[in-house]
Amino acid sequence: MKAAVVNAVGEDFVIEDVEIADPIGGEVLVDVKASGLCHSDAHIQKIDFGFPMPVVLGHEIAGVVKAVGPDVVDLKVGDRVAASLVGACGVCDSCIAGKRHICENTDSLLRGPDEPSRLTRKDGSAVTQFQGISGFAEQCLVHENQLVKVPETVPFDKACLLGCGVVTGAGAVLKTAGVRVNDDVAVIGCGGVGLNAVQAARLAGARRIIAIDLQPAKLELAKKFGATHVINPNEVEDVVAAVHEITGRKGVDHAFEVIGLKPTAEQAFQLVGPDGTAYLIGMQRPGTRLDIDPITQMIMTPRTLHGVYMGSTNAKLDIPMFADYYEQGRFNLDDLVSRTITLDEINEGYAELDKGGVARSVIVFD
Ligand SMILES: [Zn+2]
Ligand SMILES: [Zn+2]
Repeated sequence: MKAAVVNAVGEDFVIEDVEIADPIGGEVLVDVKASGLCHSDAHIQKIDFGFPMPVVLGHEIAGVVKAVGPDVVDLKVGDRVAASLVGACGVCDSCIAGKRHICENTDSLLRGPDEPSRLTRKDGSAVTQFQGISGFAEQCLVHENQLVKVPETVPFDKACLLGCGVVTGAGAVLKTAGVRVNDDVAVIGCGGVGLNAVQAARLAGARRIIAIDLQPAKLELAKKFGATHVINPNEVEDVVAAVHEITGRKGVDHAFEVIGLKPTAEQAFQLVGPDGTAYLIGMQRPGTRLDIDPITQMIMTPRTLHGVYMGSTNAKLDIPMFADYYEQGRFNLDDLVSRTITLDEINEGYAELDKGGVARSVIVFD
């Protein structure tokens, strides 16, 4: 099958023939129909996080079940599915407590070191599978616990976004933060994840939803997704002061940083009022240190800094929920997809994403 391979950190994606194994145990072979270009894949392509290369990245997929392993219980050939990179074993203490995003036994969903690799080159050498998915390919071999059925009402190029961009952004607001009616919210970064944070804040009944981004086009989109106020840092002298002017008090209840940069992470914390929380969602470069003064910023004025992993998602519950909201017209997936491309156009697709003008590009397969 065709797959976009990264052979070394910093190199472009190269379209190559990669062999994919037959499903064993609880594995499911999926014909990929759509695969979203998430920023996280580009981070791993460009920055050394220690992933063995060559690797097939991509983790935001939707497709059709082509074959199932003998132990698969919940899926059958022909099912429409979306994938989540959150693998949950279902039996560890965290999973039993309902915190599947912090499963202690995610390795149990992958093949062991003594088993043949799911992905190989023709010469038999292993190709690293990313997060148990490797979605920049015509097919994926994924454990059934990482797959969720999606209804026919959600087209594939929208359904793929449910597994990452949607649950990460909207999950941070609804599940991690538990935003409520009358809360004030700020979202820094209005791409594929940030826009979902914005529309989830609307869904939760937040009072003021302040979207912050350098791109005027993204701020326009943010308004469409429910932002009540927008701030372009290029157009104001002081973002923190601008937020205080809007909220009419000391800051917001919840600030979400969706970019993954030190200055915006620190800014998120400055936007938060007493008893409020700043949530770090964007992937920070390893080794980043934040400049926070505990006595003035955290103790005399109590504030919380909260890291968020995948919107605290339980994908098996959350993906059907967001699919329902979409079907009811209460959740916008259509405008998240800026353009669809082919697998061959993946490098151009990421170059476009880097420029910052698009929400999400999605690779579609025939
Ligand atoms: Zn992602
Ligand atoms: Zn578990």
